[in-house]
Amino acid sequence: MIAEIISIGDELTGGRSLDTNAQWLSRRLAELGVSVAYHTTVGDQLAAIVDVFHAALGRANVVVVTGGLGPTADDLTREALAATIDRPLVCNEDALDQIRCLFAQRGWKMPDQNRVQALLPQGARLIPNPHGTAPGIALDVDRNDRPAAHVYCLPGVPAEMRQMWEQTVADDLRRLGAGRRMIRTRRIKCFGAGESAIEAMLPDLVRRGRIPQVGITASKATITLAVTAEAATEDECRAAMEPTLHTIHQCLGNLVYGRDDDELQDAVVQLLRRHGKTLATVEWATDGLLIHWLRSAAGDGPEVAGGLVVSKHSAWKALFDMPDQATTVGDEPARAMAQAVRQKLGTDYGLAIGPLSPRADGPATDGAEQADFAIATPQTVHVECVPLVSHPELRKTFCAKVALNRLRLQLLAQTHPL
Ligand code: ATP
Repeated sequence: MIAEIISIGDELTGGRSLDTNAQWLSRRLAELGVSVAYHTTVGDQLAAIVDVFHAALGRANVVVVTGGLGPTADDLTREALAATIDRPLVCNEDALDQIRCLFAQRGWKMPDQNRVQALLPQGARLIPNPHGTAPGIALDVDRNDRPAAHVYCLPGVPAEMRQMWEQTVADDLRRLGAGRRMIRTRRIKCFGAGESAIEAMLPDLVRRGRIPQVGITASKATITLAVTAEAATEDECRAAMEPTLHTIHQCLGNLVYGRDDDELQDAVVQLLRRHGKTLATVEWATDGLLIHWLRSAAGDGPEVAGGLVVSKHSAWKALFDMPDQATTVGDEPARAMAQAVRQKLGTDYGLAIGPLSPRADGPATDGAEQADFAIATPQTVHVECVPLVSHPELRKTFCAKVALNRLRLQLLAQTHPL
């Protein structure tokens, strides 16, 4: 089965609302083994909606529509569907009863305008909406040369749409044969190289049409590889994905830090836990992001003792007993901060992110910056200066991730102490 999801509303095309319905529906359809090939968003214009419906019926056999089922003049889904299949709209008495009932429960008189919500294209079935006045529409559309397409129109309000999906649409699709196969995705999370470099390390894996399929995406310097398999059972999906997951791990080695929803801080906390080690942090360039992430990952665990956040030169001098003439030039500040915070909080590791400074080498681009990252252990301190290549808006996120990744690599090398 090939599905198309159509989201209707000027608030979506105008950028005022985010289309979360399409995301939610895509996941539910995947659980039923239905591949979603198209997401289409269209504003509240009758001709445009009819165009979109025609296109969808030509290329998908399951079409799920959300929005535009309200009682007002800009709610055009019913009318557009009827026009697309060239059938009249007729009053569905059950739908009208349900709308009346809903108003009665609320103690309100039903405005005449709401009668329009009981109109369904001739031959359509009602999808009950227990908590809203917009009934859904289910319709099988005959196509000349191919099997019928199945159209489901649901309200835009996410809570109503989800309930109606679960109570009616999902079962209807199962009856049509969906759910006999399932689609499952495992994600491998990487940090430390760019998207194209990672793709180049995975010969032929990110090829369209490969089974299982491997997709690659980058978000805030984290690279995610999504391996997707389709099979009859969970076990078969897992078995189909396993060799590909293994190859990715082998090719990428320590660039891989986790799976699915793992973040770098989860990987760091797990390694600290495994080695029975503790950590204290001090950060200048990241305004507390590092300790916030780490504390969220560690919960009440003992691994993360605490962190200091420095934002001014004067605070740095006062916190770390620096002489009056001390400057932040060179790697000394990060080195001293990592050592001091480790000692002050009595931990195994001290992790420091120094202040941002203009890039010493590399292209003479205006505004190019770098930061020092230091890891202190009882034996030694390692400092690395990293050029900040990310967009300025992502700088704090990038710095915090670089710091976590450096510590992660250090912890992975734990069996070979410094
Ligand atoms: P109702 O009559 O209950 O309003 P409706 O089908 O007419 O149903 P819309 O008026 O299109 O629904 O949308 C109602 C609200 O639902 C919108 O204001 C918006 O907040 C939310 N909504 C609509 N479409 C989406 C979507 N695709 N993703 C997330 N939210 C949506």
